[in-house]
Amino acid sequence: MPPQQPSQFNPNHLLRLNARCPICNNVYDLQKLRIIGEREQQILAYIDCQNCSTALLSVLSMNPNGMTAQGLVTDLTVDEVVDMDAQRHVKADDVLDLHEFLETNKPGIFTIRP
Ligand SMILES: [Zn+2]
Repeated sequence: MPPQQPSQFNPNHLLRLNARCPICNNVYDLQKLRIIGEREQQILAYIDCQNCSTALLSVLSMNPNGMTAQGLVTDLTVDEVVDMDAQRHVKADDVLDLHEFLETNKPGIFTIRP
């Protein structure tokens, strides 16, 4: 009888993720998971559903008890999520423009600025 070979260690057998889309319950293709940010023990990840195109933005947190995930359903593309222009701060001129707008326009009448 030949000596028994130790089974090869394969970490993929330990990793069983069965994440599903919260909208249509389709199983995500985890090959499409994109990591778009990280800090300390957290990862910001983005994945979209092949079935309904809804996207999920998740914060994956590592802690001594394992990994937890908090998700947010979004219609933003991954490029829109990482677009820094979208995080533009309100400037003093914006406040003055709004004040001027409210002073010069009658209540209930809105005009769209170019
Ligand atoms: Zn879906």
